[in-house]
Amino acid sequence: MKPPEVDRLAGSRAAVAARRARAEVKKQVSRGERSASEVLSTASRDATVPEASLRVTELIGSIPWLGPTRTARIMQDLRISPSKRLGGLGVHQYQRLHEFLVRRQAPRAGDGTGHRSRLVVLAGPTAVGKGTVAGYIRDHHPEVLLSVSATTRPPRAGETDGITYYFVDDAEFDRMVAADEFLEWATVHNAYRYGTPRGPIERALSDGRSVLLEIDLQGARQVREAFPEAELVFLLPPTWEELVRRLVGRGTEDEQERERRLQTARTELAAQEEFDHTVVNTDVEIAAREVVGLMAV
Ligand code: 5GP
Repeated sequence: MKPPEVDRLAGSRAAVAARRARAEVKKQVSRGERSASEVLSTASRDATVPEASLRVTELIGSIPWLGPTRTARIMQDLRISPSKRLGGLGVHQYQRLHEFLVRRQAPRAGDGTGHRSRLVVLAGPTAVGKGTVAGYIRDHHPEVLLSVSATTRPPRAGETDGITYYFVDDAEFDRMVAADEFLEWATVHNAYRYGTPRGPIERALSDGRSVLLEIDLQGARQVREAFPEAELVFLLPPTWEELVRRLVGRGTEDEQERERRLQTARTELAAQEEFDHTVVNTDVEIAAREVVGLMAV
């Protein structure tokens, strides 16, 4: 049965409008007004936007200096079929494509800027002082973006929503997971969930800024999967006794919570071999300088 004339007309008008919108996106990418990685994340967040129906080949083909031959080879390397649209990518395809785009966009050493943007992950055992080192970097190195995580943990005294964390409830965290808004997320200390929102990181990296994530070990491993070029830094206490002193000295957790954190710390300390760098946190300023130094190479 043929659809009534008015429906067909409306349908073809919508198709023309969608084609125009896609053409506009391609133009924006080719003129450098939008980064390809940002177009990809926009597509991944909402299946109804024009970006979602853009083919991957069209997106890659719009990047300046990439002709059809190189585009075809890149598609093969990424193991994505030429008919795939941005909104229809599997998780691993998305990650491969995203990583490729971000890496291409990052300013390279020797490009005149003297540096390239880096994603640095700072992990380490509980109470080793990751938060203090990260806070020092946030306050003294505005050129580095310190990612703000979302968490289901309630705020402690003195913590500010949007600065320390985005404090969200379980339903909102579920929604963010379902919408693929996290670069990584994990349940920490078997209690609350914590996740790294991907949008701000992608934007900062494509703007040539370096990004610092202060997350737990499970998160660090996920980031390594998604961004193999990320630098993983393990912050060490000067001694185990010092770590215990810091953990107990903070006094913000009850006995059961402290024992749980100590157990996590023992396991986490054992993981330092997986990391690219270790930094001993004897002095916050020196440790921070070492971490920032890794972004400059
Ligand atoms: P706290 O509740 O003391 O602020 O943080 C507890 C732990 O959660 C810390 O080890 C911290 O590194 C980790 N954490 C904070 N944000 C994130 C995140 O976005 N992802 C992951 N995986 N861990 C996080």
